Amino acid sequence: MPRKRSTSSTTPTPSNGYAGGSAKLGGVGRKRPERTERRTRERAARQLVRDREKLASLSPGGAEGRPIEVASSAVIEGRVRGMPCVQCEGEYRIADHRSVGPGVRAVDVRCDRCGVPRTLWFRIVTDEPN
Ligand SMILES: [Zn+2]
Repeated sequence: MPRKRSTSSTTPTPSNGYAGGSAKLGGVGRKRPERTERRTRERAARQLVRDREKLASLSPGGAEGRPIEVASSAVIEGRVRGMPCVQCEGEYRIADHRSVGPGVRAVDVRCDRCGVPRTLWFRIVTDEPN
């Protein structure tokens, strides 16, 4: 058996050669970057919706404890029509106008454009003396 190389200076490992280099062709890239991107966008959109809802609930009329004060119930629907949808700035359509307590009115609306429902709160404050 003749040895191929007796000189021990050369190491037999093909560290920077091309032996077996093309074995895992196409093994990577299963994550589908475009799908991940879409998911990220969808999540961002949902987050935006939530942020807007939160903002709306914190603004006047957005919660029962934060009503818009009006002088009479007659002006309520006019005020509602003057408020843009928080999601798309579309126009609200009044679905119901409820009296929920002394001087407290809740107006159920739905956006005419994007269909998002909302309840707007009003309180009737009269300055009239008894
Ligand atoms: Zn809308």
